[in-house]
Amino acid sequence: MERLNESLSAGSKVLRFAYEHYVLGRPYPLSVTLNVTTACNLSCSYCDIHSGKRKEPPTDDLVKLIRALGDHTVHWNLTGGEPTLRKDLDVIVDAIKDLPDPTYLTMFSNGKGLRRKKHLVRRLDEVFLSLDGSRTFHDRTRGKGAFDAAMDAMDVLAGMGKAYSATCVISKGSERELDFVFDLALKKGIKVGFIPVRIYSRSSEMIEELEPTPGEMHRVIERVRRFPLTSNSPAGLDILARWPHEPRFSKPCKGGTTFFTLEADGRLYRCCERRPEHKLPDPVDPERVMEWVRNIPREPCYGCWNIEGQELNMMFHLQPRAMLNLIRSARISLAMRRGAPLRPA
Ligand code: SF4
Ligand code: SF4
Repeated sequence: MERLNESLSAGSKVLRFAYEHYVLGRPYPLSVTLNVTTACNLSCSYCDIHSGKRKEPPTDDLVKLIRALGDHTVHWNLTGGEPTLRKDLDVIVDAIKDLPDPTYLTMFSNGKGLRRKKHLVRRLDEVFLSLDGSRTFHDRTRGKGAFDAAMDAMDVLAGMGKAYSATCVISKGSERELDFVFDLALKKGIKVGFIPVRIYSRSSEMIEELEPTPGEMHRVIERVRRFPLTSNSPAGLDILARWPHEPRFSKPCKGGTTFFTLEADGRLYRCCERRPEHKLPDPVDPERVMEWVRNIPREPCYGCWNIEGQELNMMFHLQPRAMLNLIRSARISLAMRRGAPLRPA
């Protein structure tokens, strides 16, 4: 009965979203990413998030903001840096999970130290763990011990019966790592999402030597397309296959009208800090957050390499292939839960 009530409550929120956003044309924060810290316990060679001053929005403001958005937001995503380094993460997780309406709470993590955070992991709905390839490859870009930390986190999550999947950054040499990633995913029964290395760094010189060649990217994408446990939609893979030409859509992106990010500097952005022109000028006032949501800069934006953002964009544009991927993904999760065999096509 409780499950039925939760489903009805989430369903009514989604219907309200559909009415307010698609019929009345209002911005509606159905999905919100909270970047809770810029601190990280790894220093991956393609990332500079961790290299600046540690930034964290104050706990009280975050909790007030969560409560203020709770009437609208269904999907919350915690990211960083490494979110588990934030000392009050349990307060943030509780604030989200104690909202009156049901929520779907996800978290990105590199896995290091996750074992010590079992109490808060218990309240998450899904964890996305970094996995770039075999130990040698993963540790080469992410630092010694990073692979073992990711494997340990997988054991912890599997032991807790917690849904998790892997996020694989495509960089130079990823092609040779695919067999390893596919085999591991099949063995563990987890999905893998693929993202390009370019989204991580603000410095193009730093990232250039780590980028795959167009040929390598295309070969990787063709193999990923045939892998049954990929979480990217076919339309999302088409975007990646355009590499190195930045995607360009015919309709403006839904970032800033249906999905938002609160960055670690306390400012509200359309999608992420990598596009500073998309932010509000001051840290968000939790008391007036919906007013702020309506005022976020809204010059049309037609594409970027933020593949996760693009998947959301296509879904909120009700693009059939992105919607079908949602169903496919849910079916895979169900099949995996039932222990049905899954093999590469
Ligand atoms: S890519 Fe993630 S795990 Fe690596 S340094 Fe950046 S924030 Fe940390
Ligand atoms: S296209 Fe990219 S940068 Fe622009 S709003 Fe969408 S996710 Fe953000």
